[in-house]
Amino acid sequence: MSSLRIRYKILMTVGLAVTLGLIMLGVFYTDRQERSLLAQNERTMQKLTEGTIQGLQTVMLAGSADIAQAFADRLKKVSEIDDFFIVRVTGEEAFRDNKTIHEVNRRRGEETFAPRGKEGRFEVLPPDNIYLQRLVADKKPISVYETDEDGSRRLVFYAPILNNEPCYKCHGSASPVRGVIKLQTSLVPVERDILLARQQSIVVIGVALMLIMLTTGYMMGRIVVAPLERVTKAMGRVSDGDLDHTVASSSDDELGRMAKSFNHMTSELKTTYEGLRKEQDKLTTIIFSAGEGIVVTDSEGQIVLVNPAAERLLGKDVAQIVAGGFDGLIDDPERIRRLVSGEQGKDSALVELQGRILNVFASTISAGDGHAIGSAALLRDVTEEKRLEEELRRLSQTDALTGLYNRRFLDQSLETEFHRARRSGTKLSVIMFDVDHFKRFNDTHGHDQGDRVLRAVAETLRAALRNYDLPCRYGGEEFLAILPNTDAPGAYAVAERLRNDIFEMTVDKLKVTISLGVATYPDLAITQSEQLVERADQALYLSKANGRNCSTVALPPAATV
Ligand code: GH3
Ligand code: MG
Ligand code: MG
Repeated sequence: MSSLRIRYKILMTVGLAVTLGLIMLGVFYTDRQERSLLAQNERTMQKLTEGTIQGLQTVMLAGSADIAQAFADRLKKVSEIDDFFIVRVTGEEAFRDNKTIHEVNRRRGEETFAPRGKEGRFEVLPPDNIYLQRLVADKKPISVYETDEDGSRRLVFYAPILNNEPCYKCHGSASPVRGVIKLQTSLVPVERDILLARQQSIVVIGVALMLIMLTTGYMMGRIVVAPLERVTKAMGRVSDGDLDHTVASSSDDELGRMAKSFNHMTSELKTTYEGLRKEQDKLTTIIFSAGEGIVVTDSEGQIVLVNPAAERLLGKDVAQIVAGGFDGLIDDPERIRRLVSGEQGKDSALVELQGRILNVFASTISAGDGHAIGSAALLRDVTEEKRLEEELRRLSQTDALTGLYNRRFLDQSLETEFHRARRSGTKLSVIMFDVDHFKRFNDTHGHDQGDRVLRAVAETLRAALRNYDLPCRYGGEEFLAILPNTDAPGAYAVAERLRNDIFEMTVDKLKVTISLGVATYPDLAITQSEQLVERADQALYLSKANGRNCSTVALPPAATV
């Protein structure tokens, strides 16, 4: 039913209602027709009996009672009449015996009427017949409809023969009713008429129904279905994306207003849609031109958006990213899951991927009502940032001229190493040295030449040390090396090797020497890292005092005594 078109639905509804109405009308009409035919039949019977009674009276008053029986017998032969009796109120058929003739002669006191030669007696109705009794009491005709065993119906009509004044002379005035006419007629012709009326009704109903359906169908088509179809077609085109389509509406009825409302709605929709499309274009441009990689999934976890930056940063094309899934973005599914779920209280992490450092931000996207509609990952290439950060950190720790660690770094590192040595019970040594007569060198060869020498000294120092030793520029032409896990003899050996390396070194055919001081923890009774530097400085001073270009080891207080 639901798939039927509206035209047929309306027609079925109207058809059903009209059919019911017409059937009711037909039933009412045929019933009325039936009643009217039966009533007409009864009136005919009544007229017939009235005519018979008048005829009888005329014959009786003329004194020709014997003609009455012949009159009654003739009526029996009328085709519409099955049976006809003139009955006394006692139920016997009249004019068959001499009972009434004797009574009349006795009343008149003379032999007015000659008795019949041949007498008969025939009881038409039993004396206690209810119709007979009612007729005598009410003096009104009675119609009784009976059905035969073969199903055919008939009308039995009873009419009273009233005892009028002219009859008194012969029959007296005691009884108000003289007799009864019982007339029986078949209803076959009437029923034939009724059947014809019914058939005509059915034909009329059928024709009326057809005309109504045709008219309704045509009018519905023009007034309702066609405008509705126009709107439906327009809706289909709008749903296919054609927002320029409008529905023609000329009428001002509900359908016309519906078409106008639809056109208004479409135009509003178009305005909104165009606004949205512009916004979407902007957003798409931003997403696709962004330097940050963007990957978005739907609520099922299916990747629905990948921008070119994401392809570039991940080193995969869209198809590979989609195939790998959201968890497989950075080849570390567990990490992505932790980021999305917000575990460990952070939603971004640095990831090293194909030689680049990416800051990966991942989280769930929620709708206004709070339910998750997908996930998003934002990938930012922070390689350069990290390099600059590292460079800055390095610069803050190093000396610009020599590239060695600066004084600030030295202080921090020495403090750290001092505590480590104290904690672990290992030895920590420092070598401090100073270029000999450098003022004079500068004065002789110029400050720039002095700088070149200082750079060469730094290089030689770096080369003389192990990886985990820390070479620092202490200030001016003074240098300091931190040697973790190194005892005094070891440090002294390094100092001497270094002194010799510098001694051997030539910068632009020029040469310099250095004086060195070595101090070792815990050999010396010191409690702070600065004291280790002080003791190395003092040892250095001793080297200067001893003629320069030599190394001195700081000794514990007892050893100096
Ligand atoms: P000594 O043997 O006693 O150490 O004699 P010295 O001349 O080296 O004496 P001192 O340490 O007092 O002099 C340091 C000189 O080093 C002073 C300065 O001209 C020079 N100097 C310090 N820093 C730099 C630098 O960055 N570049 C250059 N070219 N010279 C420097
Ligand atoms: Mg100096
Ligand atoms: Mg010096």
